[in-house]
Amino acid sequence: MWGKVIFTLNQNNVKPVRLLIDDNIIFQVNNFVQNKSFIPESGGVLIGSQVIDKQDYILNIITVPQRNDIRKRYKYFRNKKYHQDIIDNIWLSSNGLSNYIGEWHTHPQELPEPSAKDINNWKKRIKHPTFYLDRLFFIILGTQHLRVWTGARGDSIIKELLYEKE
Ligand SMILES: [Zn+2]
Repeated sequence: MWGKVIFTLNQNNVKPVRLLIDDNIIFQVNNFVQNKSFIPESGGVLIGSQVIDKQDYILNIITVPQRNDIRKRYKYFRNKKYHQDIIDNIWLSSNGLSNYIGEWHTHPQELPEPSAKDINNWKKRIKHPTFYLDRLFFIILGTQHLRVWTGARGDSIIKELLYEKE
């Protein structure tokens, strides 16, 4: 049985936002940790669903680097077409339950810090939404830690979620 890793953003007077990440996703992204100097950045999109009437999102599928992605030590650029095809197929086969809920990429840092470019990209994504749900999530996987941020549809603020121990 797989468990889940939970990240939470507590907010005043509103339900906390939670991202529930399937353990198998953690195992999957761990294959891309940049813990050796020759390993380039990796990334992909996050696919999951929102729990009805809650600010809980379940992340259960990711895409991994595809051909034509640009992968350097300090740079990852996703070729939209291949990842979009995967999103579309999963959306169809899940009858619309599984949607694009964000993006992930790696950094060669123990505790990953988003670059100014990362933050700008994320803000662009939420400000001009081309997605279905209320918010998006952004994951950066460092060599020791995984961190999660979120932003709400149409907003321009990015906030970090914190790892919640059961
Ligand atoms: Zn980055």
